[in-house]
Amino acid sequence: MIQITVPLNFLGTVYREIRQSLVDMREMFELTDTAPEVQDAPGAPAFRPGEGRVTFRGVRFGYGPDREVLRGLDFDVPGGGKLAIVGPSGAGKSTVARLLFRFYDVTGGAVEIDGQDVRGVTQESLRRGLGVVPQDTVLFNDTIGYNIAYGRAGASREEVEAAARAARIDGFIEGLPQGYDTLVGERGLKLSGGEKQRVAIARTILKNPPVLVLDEATSALDTGTERAIQAELRRLGEGRTVIMIAHRLSTVVEADEIVVLEAGRVVERGTHGDLLARGGVYARMWAAQEADAGQPEAGAAAE
Ligand code: ADP
Ligand code: MG
Repeated sequence: MIQITVPLNFLGTVYREIRQSLVDMREMFELTDTAPEVQDAPGAPAFRPGEGRVTFRGVRFGYGPDREVLRGLDFDVPGGGKLAIVGPSGAGKSTVARLLFRFYDVTGGAVEIDGQDVRGVTQESLRRGLGVVPQDTVLFNDTIGYNIAYGRAGASREEVEAAARAARIDGFIEGLPQGYDTLVGERGLKLSGGEKQRVAIARTILKNPPVLVLDEATSALDTGTERAIQAELRRLGEGRTVIMIAHRLSTVVEADEIVVLEAGRVVERGTHGDLLARGGVYARMWAAQEADAGQPEAGAAAE
C-alpha cells in the first residue's frame, strides 16, 4: 500500500527545495513514516563525487533485531561498471538499493561511494549524486510535468519534454487534457504501472546521475515497450555506474558482474557466461526463463 501523507503543497519554497528531495525519495522507496529516519552526523561534510565507485564491504542488515536480511554482502563496482543483482523475491535485492541511499544504516560492514562511507556525508549531497528507477513508482500529487522535473531542480520545459520523449511517455502526456500540466497522483489522474515507470525513467534521465540504480525498472512494462525502454536505459547507463536489480534475466546479460542473492547471501557470482558454464542456480533460472519465453501465454501477450 502506497501512502502519500506529506502535504507537500503547503511547504514553503525554501524548505521545499531543501527538504523535498529527502522526503520525496523516502516516498519513492515506499518507506513509511514509521521507518526510522537516519540523521546526518554532526558537521558531516558534503559527499564529494568521484568516478562513481560503489563498494559494499561485508554488509549486514536487518529491519529488526530478529531477522537478518543481508548476511555479509561484498561487491565493488568501479566507476562506469555494471553490476547486476538477481535472485528470488525477498532475497534482499531492494534492500541493497535502500542501503546505498542510506535510508537505513547497516548493522555490520560499510557502504561506500567513491571511498566515502555513506554515514559520513550529508544525506542530501549523497542522494543528489544517485538516481533510482524503483520497482513501484510513487507519483507526487502535482502535475505530470512537475513529477518529471523533480529529477532536476530548475529544468526547463524543453528539457522535461526531451526526457519524456526518451522515456517514451511524451505521446501519452500530449494526449492528456492539460498536457504536462495535468494533475496526477492520489488526487489526480491515475496512471498505470507502466506509465508511472516511464515517468520515473524520464525523471532519472533528467537527473543524469553518475550512479544509477535500476530496481526491476521495467517490470511493469509490456514486452514491446520494455525493449524500447531497455535501449534507452542502456544508453543512459553508458559512462556511468549502474546497479541493476533484475527480475528478467535478459537485461543482465551484459553486466560486468552478476551477483545471485538468496536469503541475503551471495550464492553465485560471475559474468553471464561464467554462471551459465557453472550450471548452478543462475543457469537453472536462465533455463526456466528461456522455457517460459518460448511458451505462448494465453491472454498475457501484452505483459
Ligand atoms: P527483494 O527486493 O529481493 O524482493 P527486499 O530487499 O525488498 O527483497 O526484502 C528482503 C526482506 O526484507 C524480505 O523478507 C522483506 O519482507 C523484508 N523487508 C523489506 N522491507 C522491510 C521493512 N520495511 N520492514 C521489515 N521487513 C522488510
Ligand atoms: Mg525488490
